[in-house]
Amino acid sequence: MLRTLRTVDGPQGDRILLDGREVLLLCSNDYLGLAGHPALIEASVRAARDFGAGSGGSRLISGSMRIHSILEERIAAFKGTEGALLFNSGYAANTGILQGLFGPGDVVFSDALNHASIIDGCYLSRARTVVYPHGDIDSLEALLEVERPRCRGRVVIVTDGIFSMDGDMAPLRELVRLKHRYGALLMVDDAHGTAVLGERGRGTAEYLECLEEVDLHMGTLGKALGSFGAYLAADRVIIDLLVNRARALIFSTSLPPSVPASAMAALDIVESSEGKDLRQQLMDNRDIFAAGLRSGGVDPPEGVTPILPLVTAEPGITIRTAERLLSRGIFIQGIRPPSVPEGRCRLRATVSALHRPEDLKQSAGIIADILREVRATCLNTLAVKVY
Ligand SMILES: *Cc1c(COP(=O)(O)O)cnc(C)c1O
Repeated sequence: MLRTLRTVDGPQGDRILLDGREVLLLCSNDYLGLAGHPALIEASVRAARDFGAGSGGSRLISGSMRIHSILEERIAAFKGTEGALLFNSGYAANTGILQGLFGPGDVVFSDALNHASIIDGCYLSRARTVVYPHGDIDSLEALLEVERPRCRGRVVIVTDGIFSMDGDMAPLRELVRLKHRYGALLMVDDAHGTAVLGERGRGTAEYLECLEEVDLHMGTLGKALGSFGAYLAADRVIIDLLVNRARALIFSTSLPPSVPASAMAALDIVESSEGKDLRQQLMDNRDIFAAGLRSGGVDPPEGVTPILPLVTAEPGITIRTAERLLSRGIFIQGIRPPSVPEGRCRLRATVSALHRPEDLKQSAGIIADILREVRATCLNTLAVKVY
């Protein structure tokens, strides 16, 4: 269970130099390949030249720069909300939003597989937190039925849009129904859906045709958008409240100007025909990779997201499998608790728009062979459940 860091040299891409060796990268969140895109690099270099390497202060002191507010307006327009607020990372956003908006007397309903930053945000808020079984609308409704009449404060349902370790989608339309029925707010963390899903890349809620029904759109700039940082898009009054209350915003130096500049360049691409083509390529690549795994006898989940969990159940097996893949030039990081529940270790494979179809086909074959061998030799003797 001991973690160590691996070192990447050179830029991001479909292949990277890992600990001095070229490998096929199959576990990055840079889904559209924008982290290495010339337009983003150029924008960040130009902003650093024009506005400096750092912001020099927090947003409420001297660090609220024009480029921050321009990006916030751009994000609000992208998500169709009155306003938006930048945070220094997705982790800071979730802790800041939940702590800033909710407190004792309020109730947060949180999906059991929500990201760690949401869990920590729930702790920091000191609101009553009710964890509902993953994606289980009936259980959530039963819990709301009991809890809602008792709560005099605010009620919020919070969920990942796409779950980071499983790649499945939250049932947002059903959550919208419950939110109306029980007078709750709906917060969606779309770290993995933003720029990936929807006709215009506006994320899981656009894909599920309920974008206007989400009250709190949280998203990150460091995954498919290839940059860094995060945002909340919401009504103006919520943004104003967070400016006054979110400790992760108030007590932290704002993003350096090169970061919003590259995020803006990323949004330009996402909203252009190039972005549409990249999303199509990503979906095609996902299908090619999934089909390759299937023809090798491994069953990745159905779906439309670039995250394909390959369950290996137990930590030792997971690490050995990842090492065998690495020896064949394929890098898929093994994921163990607390990132996933006990007994649900996995190789979390992700594809990007940059991958070449031949590489995906070939690597899927190798992965399937190694997984089959490992499962045959280890899992039968351990008698653990794998699906
Ligand atoms: C990655 C991730 C975060 C954290 O975002 P960072 O910008 O990396 O801090 C939050 N929520 C989810 C669902 C994520 O996958």
